[in-house]
Amino acid sequence: MRNKKVTVIGLGNSGLNAAILLKDAGAAVRVTESADNAPVRKNAAILNERRIAYELGRHTKDFIGGSELVVVSPGVEDSSPAVRWADELSIPIISEMELGYRFCKGKIMAITGTNGKSTVTTLIGEILKEGDKDTVVCGNIGNSLCGEISRINEDTWVVLEVSSFQLERIVDFKPAIAVILNITDDHMDRYDKFDRYFNEKLKVFKNQDERDVLILNRDAGELSGLDKKTRSKVLYYSRLSKVNGSFLKGTEIVCAAGAKEEDVCALKDIKLKGLHNIENVLVSVLAGTLAGVKPVSMKDTIKNFTGLSHRFETVSVIDGVEYIDDSKGTTVDSTLRALESCERPVILIAGGKDKNSDYSVVRDIVKSRVKYLVLIGEAGNRIREVLGGVVETREVATMREAVELSSRLAKTDDLVLLSPMCSSFDMFKDYKERGDVFKKAVLGLGAG
Ligand code: ADP
Repeated sequence: MRNKKVTVIGLGNSGLNAAILLKDAGAAVRVTESADNAPVRKNAAILNERRIAYELGRHTKDFIGGSELVVVSPGVEDSSPAVRWADELSIPIISEMELGYRFCKGKIMAITGTNGKSTVTTLIGEILKEGDKDTVVCGNIGNSLCGEISRINEDTWVVLEVSSFQLERIVDFKPAIAVILNITDDHMDRYDKFDRYFNEKLKVFKNQDERDVLILNRDAGELSGLDKKTRSKVLYYSRLSKVNGSFLKGTEIVCAAGAKEEDVCALKDIKLKGLHNIENVLVSVLAGTLAGVKPVSMKDTIKNFTGLSHRFETVSVIDGVEYIDDSKGTTVDSTLRALESCERPVILIAGGKDKNSDYSVVRDIVKSRVKYLVLIGEAGNRIREVLGGVVETREVATMREAVELSSRLAKTDDLVLLSPMCSSFDMFKDYKERGDVFKKAVLGLGAG
């Protein structure tokens, strides 16, 4: 990279760390960012300290011209003028993750899928750390791979959460272990066709060879047949059948990835609720086994793992009504899985920023499990058009109103579930803020 002219597009966490990595490697790096706001300026101040050139509030063609390589941050879309100019000028374009990969000496375990990535990435990270493996957890989960390179050596397991956006511009990226959890409808606002989104996810194993492992969810029908499309060694996990990998034997989680079958833990050891979380434990156990962690250590970790905030998290039980925060349920499938995990009548709070999703996927389960649908946000009309016929629907303006109305509609033993099927950006900064506002409203119920 020494003296190579590189332009980074985007100055969020990923772009900043890519620029620093490149500068430290001796590249002639600069950064272009279309926004000009407080978080971007904070990062620009760090660039100043390191004498890295940048432009804020606009992209200009001259700034990109003359570059030998362009690195794009995951949030930057192909339609960005900066990306289009780089294409026009025939400058090679790679993603931040590809750049990080080129500097990464460790063993990469890459986790992708539509839902469950953060939960599985975190749990595998815990399993490896408590199994005494040198571990770095990074990627889409928050801290970019480029920012962790200095902590990674040959023995490090890099547990990397990978989104389809980050896979869009890979070239050589080749994880030792790739995991695909599921691929269902998401981001139909960014991808014109489901096939395109599906194929982006498959890139996670495109460079793998016979020495690498691909872990697939046997229960996810959309993944069947992928073993024919890869050179990697394929292992499976399944809740429903015995497979070459990890599976359920009665109420025991067992793993048969090595020579012998080993019991790891029982279903009762899992603190997380929901069938999807059994799958998440199964895949994590398989990954842990491949990294050489002992079953007894994995069992302890699983027993202590209570999950992440805003993912099917019980907030409180008030007058016999349980309130569950699943604000990270930003896809139709995640809400389907949440509803499958609800064994009592549900008052569902949904809506937000529409991603052009197909809400009919949940029609049957809404019909059988949901008593009332309380809608908030921009997507309200589209959701009502599809689900209004199967459930009584109310629309409200704020999360507080949604919670107060739900509490009035709920009877003892009902569940109030926030699982929006949409992103949050119409009303909130992000899903965390949305979940926090929900929690606050729940905890304030009855306070006048
Ligand atoms: P991601 O990082 O892929 O968005 P998270 O672990 O943050 O995944 O969970 C996002 C949403 O998906 C939450 O609503 C969660 O309850 C749900 N979820 C978690 N694991 C799974 C799974 N294996 N299959 C389907 N939905 C899941």
